[in-house]
Amino acid sequence: MSRTDPFVGLDEIEQARAAIAGTVRVTPVAESPQLSEMLGQPVHLKLEHTQVTGSFKLRGASNAVANLSGEECSRGVVAASTGNHGRGLAYAARAAGARCIICMSKLVPQAKIDGIRAQGAEVRIIGRSQDEAQEEVDRLVSEEGLTMIPPFDHRAVIAGQGTLGLELLEQVPDVATVLVPLSGGGLISGVAAALKARRPDIRVIGVSMERGAAMHECLKAGRPVPVEELATLADSLGGGIGLNNRLTFAMTRDLVDEVVLVSEAEIAQAIRHLYWQERQIVEGSGAVGVAALLAGRITSAGPVVSVLSGGNIDMTQHFRIISGEDVDVTKEAA
Ligand SMILES: *Cc1c(COP(=O)(O)O)cnc(C)c1O
Repeated sequence: MSRTDPFVGLDEIEQARAAIAGTVRVTPVAESPQLSEMLGQPVHLKLEHTQVTGSFKLRGASNAVANLSGEECSRGVVAASTGNHGRGLAYAARAAGARCIICMSKLVPQAKIDGIRAQGAEVRIIGRSQDEAQEEVDRLVSEEGLTMIPPFDHRAVIAGQGTLGLELLEQVPDVATVLVPLSGGGLISGVAAALKARRPDIRVIGVSMERGAAMHECLKAGRPVPVEELATLADSLGGGIGLNNRLTFAMTRDLVDEVVLVSEAEIAQAIRHLYWQERQIVEGSGAVGVAALLAGRITSAGPVVSVLSGGNIDMTQHFRIISGEDVDVTKEAA
């Protein structure tokens, strides 16, 4: 059985905020008239898809790089990534002058690979799952001395993601419910730690896709378990949480109030809503909170913030979805 480390605290999140202020953008929030009308409570969208590199992952990656020693920085950093973590880490490493290698599985869409190369990182495509890509990462760590920066189960990464929670609390001080896209749980652990430290009454709800909802399966099992990675419109939410998970499983279990799942059709509907009604281009993973709202799966006694966690969607896929086409990635996947 893996041991759990002490939870990431508010002090670490506040330190992260200072450390990454020069690299990371304070993203705006916008109230959605339509969603507010529908829910009977103000609904605010946290426009984190407008973050530099297109997702919140830059926050955690920048904080992890800021915590490296000079020597670690010069040997370089490495990660396995479904895309957005790689992109954020590549940007953060380049900003700090560090070498960066990103390993990823064949399921990752081309747009994300190109995005990472454009940030100046080396990309290695290995295997059909996050776990196989991770084996190459382990080799680079043991044989070439690079430092692994994991996408979620890492103190500095969680603290960096938590800065989004501090931000949204200042932007919507009377928030009652926060909807957070959930995969490995780095974002929700950091955000929940920040929010609950300041306002324990805030409800934090994780939202995942029905297809391959790893954290949800692990919470049901009461421990980290292997979960099969499946094709989904929410491709940034794919992959397991790690069988030796040290932080995000326990933090999610103890700090998150509820997990809600959404279907592929509901995710597509949310991408359409965000484009036509809110004028935002959001990837499937970033749209799951809005999907849950539109599906009538959320109730709240006060204002809601839904985190739009990323915008790195293949634009051809986006065009087909917003044009009303029934895009079924479960059939199109190779
Ligand atoms: C990584 C990612 C998530 C999930 O974050 P976790 O920390 O793994 O739970 C959600 N949305 C987007 C766009 C992401 O890239």
